[in-house]
Amino acid sequence: MLGALAITLGKVAAFVVLMLVVGRRVIPWILHRVAHTGSRELFRLGVLAMALGVAFGSSALFGVSFALGAFFAGMIMAESELSQQAANETLPLRDAFAVLFFVSIGMLFDPSVLLRQPLAVAATVAIIVVGKSLAALVIVLAFKRPKSVALTISASLAQIGEFSFILAGLGVSLKLLPPEGRDLVLAGAILSILLNPLLFALLDKILPTLAAREPPRQPDAAAQPHAVLVGYGRVGRAVAEGLKGRTPLVVIEDDLERADALREAGFAVIQGNAVRPEVLKSAGLDKATHLFVAVPNPFEAARIIEQARAANPKAAIIARAYSDADVALLRQAGANQALIGEQEIARAMLALAPKRKAATVH
Ligand code: AMP
Repeated sequence: MLGALAITLGKVAAFVVLMLVVGRRVIPWILHRVAHTGSRELFRLGVLAMALGVAFGSSALFGVSFALGAFFAGMIMAESELSQQAANETLPLRDAFAVLFFVSIGMLFDPSVLLRQPLAVAATVAIIVVGKSLAALVIVLAFKRPKSVALTISASLAQIGEFSFILAGLGVSLKLLPPEGRDLVLAGAILSILLNPLLFALLDKILPTLAAREPPRQPDAAAQPHAVLVGYGRVGRAVAEGLKGRTPLVVIEDDLERADALREAGFAVIQGNAVRPEVLKSAGLDKATHLFVAVPNPFEAARIIEQARAANPKAAIIARAYSDADVALLRQAGANQALIGEQEIARAMLALAPKRKAATVH
């Protein structure tokens, strides 16, 4: 038994190494060559042939399951720069296969397990919905993420899907799992998928209260005269670059990953939506000399500016706008200046134009 397991593990390891070494180079290379022919059909056919080829080849050569082979084929293709195109091209096929997949899962499911083993089904659902999400909650909190993020991630993980069916099927075929085990996994998956929207509905109710109770920490830079930048996107990035060395800066950024990257790059960052009063407040607005509102939505910008103006009547507030109507809205909310992107481009173009009138040739 142990010997057989060791051989299987050895084969899987050899398969993974071969896939990582050869697959990383060969598959992207083929994808590029096929893409350069310019034929969409050929590209779609190539992706399909490679996916099925790797899946079949791996099951024939290494004895791993067809599904595991296909999974690795997908992982390898994801490495290629053309992966998005490959995914788009195969989307209709994926939907068709997904339907077939779920039909076959439905045929495997024996509903009588709900009556025969109600306790075992309840325990399986509890492991998935409570156990798995609790583990996720602990891990996310251990990484010092906000409770709201931890709860959202655990609710997202409070279900199992197709990969568990593949593993259960593999377990049964290798005689590691009794067939009843697969029925329990299937029942657990179906029930946990049904319960998931309810969990999210509950989360929607809890999150606003939690967010209000969890005010963001005020960065040290906010205690002295400083500038505040809201939104570190295409506009905000350039503003932050230009402010380097001129004034201490506090950035408010809603996007979690972007905020993390900024923090790692040494910025004083508050992660959250600046429309929320507690987020804006933690930027130390009373000490701010300048507020740069570089978010794309003018209505959000206006709400941010109104609150900022109420907190600090003296700060210079500069906002991003798209139209004259935006400028009027933002000025009315309390902005000192609202700049329209297109007009600034024209201004920059003119700055590059000849300074003096060139001699005209008739
Ligand atoms: P861009 O459109 O490329 O200039 O990006 C706008 C940036 O502003 C993105 O990084 C958004 O996450 C961020 N952002 C948009 N709205 C808000 C908001 N209300 N509070 C904080 N950050 C925001």
